[in-house]
Amino acid sequence: MTGPGHSATAPIPAEPGASAAAAYRAGIFDPTVLSACISCGFCLPVCPTYAQTKLENSSPRGRITLMRALEEGRLDEDDPTLQHQAGLCLGCRACETVCPAGVKYGELLEQWRDHQWRGRHTPPIAGALRAGVRVTPALAVGGLLRGAARTTGAPEPDRPHLMLGCLERSLYPKVSRAALRLIPDADVPEGQGCCGALHAHNGGSREAAEMAQRLGERMPGTIVSTSGGCAAYLAHQLGHDRVKEVGEFLLSRWDENPASMPPLRPILVDGRPARVGVKDSCQLRNGLGVFAQSRALVGRVAELVELPSAGVCCGGAGTYSMLQPEMSRAVLDPTLTQARDLGLDYLVSLNVVCTRQLASGVRRAKLPVRVLHLVELLELAL
Ligand code: SF4
Ligand code: SF4
Repeated sequence: MTGPGHSATAPIPAEPGASAAAAYRAGIFDPTVLSACISCGFCLPVCPTYAQTKLENSSPRGRITLMRALEEGRLDEDDPTLQHQAGLCLGCRACETVCPAGVKYGELLEQWRDHQWRGRHTPPIAGALRAGVRVTPALAVGGLLRGAARTTGAPEPDRPHLMLGCLERSLYPKVSRAALRLIPDADVPEGQGCCGALHAHNGGSREAAEMAQRLGERMPGTIVSTSGGCAAYLAHQLGHDRVKEVGEFLLSRWDENPASMPPLRPILVDGRPARVGVKDSCQLRNGLGVFAQSRALVGRVAELVELPSAGVCCGGAGTYSMLQPEMSRAVLDPTLTQARDLGLDYLVSLNVVCTRQLASGVRRAKLPVRVLHLVELLELAL
């Protein structure tokens, strides 16, 4: 699966000797992170794009080789393979979880796209989304028109703050309302902008970090996010002690204080417990190590069915389904097949982009499966 004008086998000019390589550094990448890869290849079997193409360039190791060629001046950003592979990577970070050298691949990808996706090399969709989510009043109007949870004014320091995702409040406004029913003491501070995760993954990591800091100042104290990708990014910027994904927040609160848990009844389908699969958010699972909590919560209200591909990227990946529609669908297909074979009634998502991707796949495959956010499923049990 190669892009137009992309030669999968285009040779990369040979790596120079150590002294020559050190002589030129473009300064695109953190040299410590870039040099950490020992080319062992342990990451290849977990990479969804490598699984599809079987091409070294589409693997984590191959992409790091390309990054080194860019850094050392052996390739420049006009090279079609570089442009293609910078976009074909899902940014799922599955490669990080198996890497014996601890390569922070996610950081390398951000640095690569910061450089690669500038000027005429910026994918138009990525540029448009980066511009769109900058406009905080437009996000607020979108949420208001679509009926997302109403804001409650200035933040109150002792209350958990519900974060309204920039896309989620317009695309899936019921999610924030369901979250509020489960966290009735949460406030919803006004004036919330985007957390910056979309920028960080689409070539704007410096601006992204500023956006995260601004949002953190707007909501001092505990921030609860219904989007796994946003939670992971914001936790990275502000600290995991301050930022919680809604599933981990609820489970921790309900375990520490069982009286805070509302009565939940089993969710039934045709008189039997509903069969529910969880599809992880990549950034949440691979970046923050959070995946058990959603399963524990589902298990309280339904029959949890573990999907073999639960931890594999769904192909949504921010703007990916728009930038790489063919690969995006190919990556999702095994999950759809498993959902059908396992007789799922519900597929639970932990991230707005995953919800959109799963719902469109379920429609395309005509599956009798409902896609819901975790808090929407829990709301059914109230
Ligand atoms: S597992 Fe880590 S060290 Fe090994 S090739 Fe992949 S990124 Fe490099
Ligand atoms: S982030 Fe995901 S798609 Fe990209 S190289 Fe790593 S495993 Fe492969």
